[in-house]
Amino acid sequence: MGTVTQVEQPVTASSIYCREARRLLDALADAIHALIQVHESQFNALIQGDLDSTEFDVSLHQANAAKYAAKYAYLHHLEEHGCSTLEAEAAAASR
Ligand SMILES: [Zn+2]
Repeated sequence: MGTVTQVEQPVTASSIYCREARRLLDALADAIHALIQVHESQFNALIQGDLDSTEFDVSLHQANAAKYAAKYAYLHHLEEHGCSTLEAEAAAASR
């Protein structure tokens, strides 16, 4: 990958989440983007009459697994680090 188009993020996100949370969120966004690309590839193959595309099932499974891994890594960080709330940010800033 590496040619992923940057999606506009809410301004508040970067001010609330810590750097690691931002990185994990970006990784999740990339994983979702990759999943969408698999869907697009499969759709393009379908409309071109390529119904013998079991490779997409594998790609889809891998992309889904990557997305879930990224999602839970992100959620796990928020849970462990508690950086998903303004209160946590304020508490950290006051130390
Ligand atoms: Zn954090």
